[in-house]
Amino acid sequence: MSNWGKDHLGTGSSEPLTAVIIGNGPSGICLSYLLSGYTPYVKPDAVHPHPLLQRKLAEAPGVAILDQDLNYLSEGLEGRCQSPVALLFDALLRPDTDFGGDMESVLTWKHQKERAIPHVVLGRNLPGGAWHSIEGSMVTLSRGQWMGLPDLPVKDWMRRKRRY
Ligand SMILES: Cc1cc2nc3c(=O)[nH]c(=O)nc-3n(C[C@H](O)[C@H](O)[C@H](O)COP(=O)(O)OP(=O)(O)OC[C@H]3O[C@@H](n4cnc5c(N)ncnc54)[C@H](O)[C@@H]3O)c2cc1C
Repeated sequence: MSNWGKDHLGTGSSEPLTAVIIGNGPSGICLSYLLSGYTPYVKPDAVHPHPLLQRKLAEAPGVAILDQDLNYLSEGLEGRCQSPVALLFDALLRPDTDFGGDMESVLTWKHQKERAIPHVVLGRNLPGGAWHSIEGSMVTLSRGQWMGLPDLPVKDWMRRKRRY
């Protein structure tokens, strides 16, 4: 591992990296966020509109989603993809999107350093992937309030960007 890698990751050791993420688009950014120790929990006062999922979530209050049985939580969820974990995270991050709603995510994220896994993200260009080649005149397929990364709605990012 290069000195850059050591300094950048703050590991300061010659231990090999546990994970290498190839590609620094939205998928790589989200995976890196999780591997950095950012951990999803259900907000204490959140009520999910899917009654079965809500009942299952209520069985383990205060337990990180990653420590729960993801197969069990995702059973019965339907959507546009085949991956049960992706369906579950879609349902938690955008609870009623398929019905045209704009309910807020039921997740809150906590940074827990002890969960962090040393990793590096490789990309050919600046982080952002395909979004760098989307011209300003193009519109997103998703509605504006659905856009964002796990803990960063685009509207919050735009607000901060204007401030600094
Ligand atoms: C006009 C338009 C509108 C869209 N609107 C929406 C929307 O509203 N909502 C939505 O969710 N999605 C939308 N998308 C789709 C969006 O592009 C994808 O959701 C998202 O970019 C996928 O992210 P990704 O990280 O999987 O892949 P990408 O964004 O393609 O990123 C992958 C990155 O990895 C790099 N890479 C690949 N292989 C290697 C390698 N071997 N070594 C190093 N680097 C590598 C690539 O150069 C690229 O930068 C839209 C797309 C377009 C074109």
